[in-house]
Amino acid sequence: MNGLSMNMVTLLYLVASVCFIQALKGLSSPSTARAGNMFGMSGMAIAAVTTVALMFKLRATLAPGGMGFALVLLGVVVGGAIGALAARRVEMTKMPELVAAMHSLIGLAAVCIAVAAVSEPWAFNIVPRATVLPFGNRLELFIGTFVGAVTFSGSVIAFGKLSGKYKFRLFQGAPVRFAGQHWLNLLLALAIVALGLAFCFDDNPLGPAWTPYALMALLAFVLGVLIIIPIGGADMPVVVSMLNSYSGWAAAGIGFSLNNAMLIIAGSLVGSSGAILSYIMCKAMNRSFFNVILGGFGGETDAGAGSGTQEQRPVKSGSADDAAFILQNAESVIIVPGYGLAVARAQHAVKELVDKLTEHGVQVRYAIHPVAGRMPGHMNVLLAEAEVPYDQVAEMEDINSEFGQTDVVLVLGANDVVNPAAKDPKSPIAGMPILEAYKAKSIIVNKRSMASGYAGLDNELFYQPNTMMVFGDAKKVIESMVKAVE
Ligand code: NDP
Repeated sequence: MNGLSMNMVTLLYLVASVCFIQALKGLSSPSTARAGNMFGMSGMAIAAVTTVALMFKLRATLAPGGMGFALVLLGVVVGGAIGALAARRVEMTKMPELVAAMHSLIGLAAVCIAVAAVSEPWAFNIVPRATVLPFGNRLELFIGTFVGAVTFSGSVIAFGKLSGKYKFRLFQGAPVRFAGQHWLNLLLALAIVALGLAFCFDDNPLGPAWTPYALMALLAFVLGVLIIIPIGGADMPVVVSMLNSYSGWAAAGIGFSLNNAMLIIAGSLVGSSGAILSYIMCKAMNRSFFNVILGGFGGETDAGAGSGTQEQRPVKSGSADDAAFILQNAESVIIVPGYGLAVARAQHAVKELVDKLTEHGVQVRYAIHPVAGRMPGHMNVLLAEAEVPYDQVAEMEDINSEFGQTDVVLVLGANDVVNPAAKDPKSPIAGMPILEAYKAKSIIVNKRSMASGYAGLDNELFYQPNTMMVFGDAKKVIESMVKAVE
């Protein structure tokens, strides 16, 4: 292992970076996602093994007699085991909060590395022993610490809000707002910049300027909390992807300090892809991107309060047998899956139903809204799990023009993503792009009650004269439909 040259390390880091780029490319389509994941895992394995090998090579010069190497291996084993266990156990619907928890750890790791690098820069090969850190390195470490600290505390609040099971007020879905909040945030940001610059411009040979550095880090932790608390639960997944982006930039910042090309490339990929994803999600939910990233600036709704019950109005309802009869006599059917389908874990039953209908000569396709479910790609993953062929699955912009010529739309556990209220300029979800199910000749909606969806709004689609509601748990209802299709 000692024969590992720096050129070899650079080459291996380059290979890992190419793997990460291939991973992102693969993950952009369900048909290549598996290969994308393999690339991502290979890239991470190459990067981790190379880094450990490099440490092994350098340990004699950097930390003679220390037990750093053993500690790193212990960290890999313990951290890896916790990560593997958490990923195995997590339910699909709880994925956003797991991601938030992971981001908080990335932020904290960035802060810890920065503190270590400020304290002993020679141990990271940044400068020779007893040499003052140059201004450029101090600036990078300041930025890495600041972004890492905001990411950590912001992600902890996002985790609490998403899990919704803690009593602590800051972890509640409802936004926490107070007078002068944005001015306070601005003041804190200015104080952080001033303290950061005080740290950067101090080149005292006796040691780094710990006081402004520590105060800056402390205020950054506070700022992270303050910019997330005014954001309502409904916007939280956008916030999570934005924090994902921040965590990437924090890693890239630290990569500059450590002169580690791998960290710079991987961090920039995470940073930019997270920002693009946030933008796409904001568009699909009709939230203003800048309002969300600036921490609840502007008048966002407090949507996401959950399923409030609506005033009683008459609706047409039918049984699973009625629905099966209508479906098998149709020529074309579009299925709109939503969050309820994921909760009921009814994806396999749907696949079975579609297979039977296809045997009857019915043309069936699935319409996917970008924010159906509780995380981007939720429905694609669900359908892929049931081995639904990719050519039956269409994205919103490709299928929206076809609802008008479709015989039956079957809405399964979806609500907001088909709510025509989005067309009403006065509605809280005005402007949100929707799947235009209301245009179909007949509509069948399965859900358990008349309760609202995530945005907490009533849905006119359910009251249309050509809509039939089939109440009940999605899995049970679909299984009955499968039995009823002859
Ligand atoms: P919704 O939350 O609007 O509606 C889901 C519906 O499923 C509910 O009305 C519920 O009604 C029904 N349901 C729940 N459990 C079952 C069950 N077991 N069987 C049958 N039905 C069930 O989901 P959509 O997918 O339509 O919309 C997603 C919402 O989440 C949007 O508002 C979106 O903005 C938001 N969101 C999505 C994100 C993403 O990235 N995907 C991120 C953040 C927010 P009932 O209780 O009557 O059964």
